[in-house]
Amino acid sequence: MENKPGIDTICVHSGDVEDITYGGAVSPIYTATAYAYAAGANNPYPRYFNSPNQMNLAKKVARLEGAEAALIFGSGMAAISSAMLSVLKTGDHIIIQNQIYGGTRNFIQKELDTFDISFDYFNDENEIEGLIQKHTKLIYLETPSNPLLELVDLKKIAKIARAHKILTMVDNTFASPINQRPITLGIDIVIHSATKYLGGHSDITAGAVATSEKLLQPILLKARNFGGSLADQTTWLLERSMKTLNLRVQKQNHNAQQLAEYLEAQEWIDQVNYPGLKDHPQYELAQSQMSGFGGMLSFKLSAEVPAQSFLKNLRLIKDVLSLGGVETTMLSPSLTSHSLLSDKERAEQGISSQLLRLSCGIENYEDLVLDIQQSINNIE
Ligand SMILES: *Cc1c(COP(=O)(O)O)cnc(C)c1O
Repeated sequence: MENKPGIDTICVHSGDVEDITYGGAVSPIYTATAYAYAAGANNPYPRYFNSPNQMNLAKKVARLEGAEAALIFGSGMAAISSAMLSVLKTGDHIIIQNQIYGGTRNFIQKELDTFDISFDYFNDENEIEGLIQKHTKLIYLETPSNPLLELVDLKKIAKIARAHKILTMVDNTFASPINQRPITLGIDIVIHSATKYLGGHSDITAGAVATSEKLLQPILLKARNFGGSLADQTTWLLERSMKTLNLRVQKQNHNAQQLAEYLEAQEWIDQVNYPGLKDHPQYELAQSQMSGFGGMLSFKLSAEVPAQSFLKNLRLIKDVLSLGGVETTMLSPSLTSHSLLSDKERAEQGISSQLLRLSCGIENYEDLVLDIQQSINNIE
């Protein structure tokens, strides 16, 4: 047998901090902000991203992503901003997928502009080559996208980027490393909002970057200057959460697949968006680049169902923001994540007020269906 641990073993054990004082079974938390000075050594200091808990959890993330190295951040946006600003400088140009997380979009439009970094959005990946300029440094992607679960072809885009010596960065938050490992498809840098699946219990704000040793160095230097590190107590909590990452995500995948199939069969629903459905326009691409289809889906209620009453009637499924937790949640993108877009922009992107986004938790599927059924039955 090959000596290669399985995914659950990696989740549980990779990057353990060994308790050499007491021999405890779990990682101790090192909360020190002052460590003995050693000349020439990588002296730990939490803002340097090199405390024992930070360094060890980074190994778990890197291992899961198939990356050489990783860094743990105080939030997904700390990871995104530090990584972007470490590879970009004044005068550079970036190519960005149109459907990306609102906070990232805001960062690009508000912050990068002050560095005279220009950008172009693409809707279709076939537009990418035509958008490349002499100073294009980065292609920024997010797949599957929010809230329509559209995919971009990571292998194909990585190949185009390499041919032009352009770096690629993927926000892998929605898929999690359980369902998608962009680095194994040729992508250079992977970003996570660990607030979502990696944390998985809706109680931690954190972020991560995974990449090669070589690309990590400039990101580390920037990150130390920007100061967006994660406190060791929270780093430890994130480590504990990640021990069950595969178990949780497998159950979330399962619930999402079953719910997508259930919803698709209901006559009060016009459309279900889930990469695991055979009639998803990119089902084949999903099969080739994802090892699971994820816990996120969205669906469009037919015109006669009032979306707000449907949401309000839910008892088990929570109408709350955010995603990736063990509890199933539902929200209206047009009122939340995409509320700042104009009606015209939302219409162009296919985000109507009848569209709802579902983040599947780990509850029993049958209870989730019962909740949806009672909600629809109780609409006056
Ligand atoms: C939440 C989220 C982010 C931002 O992460 P924070 O932890 O809130 O800073 C980035 N990308 C995606 C896809 C997200 O869902």
